[in-house]
Amino acid sequence: MAVEETRIVTKFLRSREKDSWTFEAARKHNKAYSALEKALGMEPATIVEEVQTSGLRGRGGAGFGAGQKWSFLPKDVFPRYLAVNADEGEPSTFKDHMLLERDPHQIIEGVAITAFAIQAHVAFIYIRGEFALGAERVQQAVDDAYANGFLGKNILGSGFDLDVIVHRGAGCYIAGDETGLLSSLEGERAMPRIKPPFPAAQGLYAAPTVVNNVETLSTVPHIIRRGAKWYAGLGVNKSTGTRIFSVSGMVERPGNYEVELGTSFRDLIEGLAGGVRDGKAMKFFIPGGASAPWLMPEHLDEPLDMDRAGELKTMLGSGAIMVFDETVDPLLISWRLAKFFAHESCGKCTPCREGSGWIDKVLYRMVHGLGRPDDLDLLLDFGSSIVPGLNAPFAQTTICALGPSTMSHVVSLDRYFGAEIRERLKRDFAKRAPLEVVSA
Ligand code: SF4
Repeated sequence: MAVEETRIVTKFLRSREKDSWTFEAARKHNKAYSALEKALGMEPATIVEEVQTSGLRGRGGAGFGAGQKWSFLPKDVFPRYLAVNADEGEPSTFKDHMLLERDPHQIIEGVAITAFAIQAHVAFIYIRGEFALGAERVQQAVDDAYANGFLGKNILGSGFDLDVIVHRGAGCYIAGDETGLLSSLEGERAMPRIKPPFPAAQGLYAAPTVVNNVETLSTVPHIIRRGAKWYAGLGVNKSTGTRIFSVSGMVERPGNYEVELGTSFRDLIEGLAGGVRDGKAMKFFIPGGASAPWLMPEHLDEPLDMDRAGELKTMLGSGAIMVFDETVDPLLISWRLAKFFAHESCGKCTPCREGSGWIDKVLYRMVHGLGRPDDLDLLLDFGSSIVPGLNAPFAQTTICALGPSTMSHVVSLDRYFGAEIRERLKRDFAKRAPLEVVSA
């Protein structure tokens, strides 16, 4: 039987390719803001409970319960803020980009409901600098929402006020970390902050703040409209509902696919994305963005389940699946990832700042036939100073998760290709002419 998507968050933008981002189309064909009308008639605490009951978990990477996060805000501390993480920068992740460009009203409706639930009167949409079209359309959508009474003072006569500010980032991976994002919003460099205090207690301008991802907020109107039980009935175990997965790399049909959690990697990669292109065999795949440890073809029948991914010592992360065929050199991929993380390290903490550069340099010589026989072990040795134990879920000696990300691909190399890489290093070393010893 052909595998099909379960379209909830993406249903409208797929059906109205030409004008799905416009206010008129969103109102006329997608009941935009009808969930907000319903929410404004509810108690804020009831909305928080509803989202908790739905089991919705953050779709940005960490997978923390959305309603649970909202419930952590201290009572009676005001003002409080909502910050929307639209800084999707994890390599190969492109789902939020699509939602921003093609269904901004769904996001704004989610923002308004969430702000009402947590009683925030100012929300910021922090959008990646490179998303020029997305920023333009989101700003237009915000303007249209104000003009039609869905934002601003006394929304729909409810007495609730909300201002939404669209803020464009300058293009920096680490601004996608929630505390890095808050630093950037405050006008500082996007350097992550030590937690605790967590943003719920002390976030933007030291006030209680909720940071939620675009896809997470886009899901909220559907939960309010159709009920928590309906949403909780989708998915598997504690991974409820659907998720959008960005499938890329060497597949026949790369793209964004929204599927019910619990669907297998095989159905997603081979069924929906058409499998490895040109009839080649798969060598490995990365299941959750560049930061995630790799999986192998023998894992294809595993379910898309956040907790099961943890048992496999990886994560579904940002929902980006990269597929590599049999012709790919895993060492080369690892070096490319190392270069990315070394470039994006903000430099605030020593293990990441120094370690990411060392990893890049050692992998460079390994890839270019200049390695030493024990280089993989050398990487694992100093890498364990960044990630004690070297296994997901990562313990870390660094302020943010970029530190462990510098090692996840090295751990994967050792786990799945360790024997052949050690052989290759020995061969390369033996081939090189011994250095001449020059006597004084
Ligand atoms: Fe910056 Fe890296 Fe430390 Fe994160 S782990 S705060 S990116 S130096």
